[in-house]
Amino acid sequence: MERFKLFKPGDRVAVAVSGGKDSLTLLYLLSKYRDQLGVELVAVLVDEGISGYREYKRFTAEKYARAWGVELRIASFKERFGFTLDEAVFALMMEGLSVKPCSVCGVLRRYLLNRTALEVGADKLATAHNLDDEAQAFLMNAIQANLTAFSREGIADTKAHELLVPRVKPLYFAPEKEVMAYALLNSIESPYVECPYIVYSMRNVVRRWLNYVELEDPLVKYRVLASKELLAGVYKEAGEFKLCKLCGMPSSGDLCKACEVSEEVRRIYKLKRS
Ligand SMILES: [Zn+2]
Repeated sequence: MERFKLFKPGDRVAVAVSGGKDSLTLLYLLSKYRDQLGVELVAVLVDEGISGYREYKRFTAEKYARAWGVELRIASFKERFGFTLDEAVFALMMEGLSVKPCSVCGVLRRYLLNRTALEVGADKLATAHNLDDEAQAFLMNAIQANLTAFSREGIADTKAHELLVPRVKPLYFAPEKEVMAYALLNSIESPYVECPYIVYSMRNVVRRWLNYVELEDPLVKYRVLASKELLAGVYKEAGEFKLCKLCGMPSSGDLCKACEVSEEVRRIYKLKRS
């Protein structure tokens, strides 16, 4: 955090919390060091509406936020977009599932985290992405030839637009196993429930593959991260923004990704229910 100057004294930091081990560890660390860092914290949780999963994680996040004296803001898909992720997946299933649940969820969650961070007046949005997450994200972007994404997945964003809260990732260099060990040593517990949609995700395949390669090559994740860092400087995004015609948030097209996706889901959902 010091080396990359992730925070400066006086920052109001929104901490993205899912209720899993990584984000609870991040919240724990930041609440422990908030005075030294001189920052003010507010935890932000997105309730996607995934039954059999989200309610347990949400309860856990509420419990720890209370214990560590951090205010918790909850934003939900249902409230903002009018449907839960379960309802969105139902609609997509009826259409033959051409779009994967994680793509829908990822776009909407990212959008909602940013909006909520804006609403609480945050200067930074801290997320718990660890070394494994970053190495997986890089490989997924590489597989999908999404090269411009390399430039926006670093340890800290620069402020690209006044309506986009810069993201920082304090656990960027920490392997998942170490985060997990740290959580266990500090009695941070999270229920063993997995998102039911993980079976559809490309990330899961990449994750298993990377862990498999790591058995032979213990440094592979660090080298993947190094490649990512090198390429981040090569492929730059245009970085020009319009404002979304529906919600007014920064967007590359007339509609932002979140409005595009949620409009489509609402359209199908209505169609299939009537
Ligand atoms: Zn929009």
